[in-house]
Amino acid sequence: MPTPARVRIAPSPTGDPHVGTAYTGLFNWMLARQTGGQFILRIEDTDRQRSTNESEEAILRSLRWLGLEYDEGPDVEGPYGPYRQSERSELYRTHVRTLIENGSAYPCFCTAERLSEMRALQRKEKRDPGYDGQCRSIPADEAQQRMDANEPYVIRLKVDKQGATVFQDHLRGEIRIENRTIDDQVLMKSDGFPTYHLANVVDDHLMKITHVLRAEEWITSTPKHVLLYQAFGWDLPVFCHLPLLRNSDKSKISKRKNPTSLDHYREKGYLPEAMLNFLALMGFSPAEGEGEEVFTQDELRQVFSLDRISLGGPVFDLTKLDWLNGNWIRRLDRDDLTKRIQAAIPEGPATETGFIHSVLPLVQERMKTILDYADLTDFFLAPSIHLTNESFRRAKLPSADLVRALERAHAILSEVPDLDPDRDSGRLREGAVDLGLKVGGFFMALRVAVTGKSATPPLIESMQVIGRDQSLARIQSAIDFLQSESEL
Ligand code: GLU
Repeated sequence: MPTPARVRIAPSPTGDPHVGTAYTGLFNWMLARQTGGQFILRIEDTDRQRSTNESEEAILRSLRWLGLEYDEGPDVEGPYGPYRQSERSELYRTHVRTLIENGSAYPCFCTAERLSEMRALQRKEKRDPGYDGQCRSIPADEAQQRMDANEPYVIRLKVDKQGATVFQDHLRGEIRIENRTIDDQVLMKSDGFPTYHLANVVDDHLMKITHVLRAEEWITSTPKHVLLYQAFGWDLPVFCHLPLLRNSDKSKISKRKNPTSLDHYREKGYLPEAMLNFLALMGFSPAEGEGEEVFTQDELRQVFSLDRISLGGPVFDLTKLDWLNGNWIRRLDRDDLTKRIQAAIPEGPATETGFIHSVLPLVQERMKTILDYADLTDFFLAPSIHLTNESFRRAKLPSADLVRALERAHAILSEVPDLDPDRDSGRLREGAVDLGLKVGGFFMALRVAVTGKSATPPLIESMQVIGRDQSLARIQSAIDFLQSESEL
């Protein structure tokens, strides 16, 4: 049995719940569940301007929707809380004091104007950007006096510019960064709130995180974190940076090119099972060479391994998501799918349980999302079918033949009390042949007359749901429509 991993996701509640949160969440969840460890949700809301309660709620809601259950978090409690950074200010203050006392951090009183002049000069002289260290040399007692006198200040990490910082990334091996390129990072802002770096490291340590599994974009922050761990004298966790999700042009996934909000996918009728399955396949091959792509959350938990994460930039391919979603919809049993349709689509005759049950055999196979149900079934209950000349184009028959086809179909179907797909498709086919019309065109004309569409579930089965009389009435209306159009 592997050592239980304590892992976390640490989203900032500053916008819509992001697919990236679900992606890192899933990988962390899989590792925790597989090793019998814990999966923790920590809300990193130190950016007071941008953090909102709504965004935090949306994150919680999305994780619940996906079934990524966490063991500790803002609404679950646990031994290492609070799990919201805005409630941990005192802890960061104590820790930053330790760093000042042991010479690893210092107060910086530079004003915004001075910093922008410094940057302008660096740009002009083509020097590396970064703080120039002016406040490093302020004697401790003078610095204390200025702080006591309420002069605004930030606390910076004192980076020894000699040598290099080295750490292991579980997937990439050794990463080495020259210290002269590491900035004297701000650890605490003038409002007394910590920056991401300080809060993240303090919390990962205090929460006993064993593995930091996060997106690749944080890799440049890691050297700063390593310096902080060293300054505190703490052991490092395992770092593992997951490959970034990408748009199809390989750029980092962005709203402009792909919807990135989990709410979007929920509202559009994607199943959480499919979403998780899809995200798992990004950068991870659950079953090497076996071609199997559909996995339940439980199966994923079993096959997951950190060593099977591949670093090639995984493309967020919506066609693949649609395919998986369709697959997952087909796996649902009737009652489960009925409930999900009823939860997603506004109540009406089309969402009555009996009706859903009567049409599911015809449409379940064709649904890629839950919302497709509405489009695939709207013609069943429509009071009338809206027709245009264009509607009949796919039948590729002249108007007079369309009328002949429909009149024959009407006659054939009027002779029977009930519709029977096997018997009636044969009889309709004979009717087409008898008229000397192409069978495909004949059936297309009938399909359009009865449904208004050129692509539908099986036609006679659909007419059974619509009812024989109603179907005949629609055929008659189509004949009337075609005749009135040809008289114009
Ligand atoms: N707050 C960071 C985020 O928004 C956390 C990054 C990390 O996992 O360290 O993703």
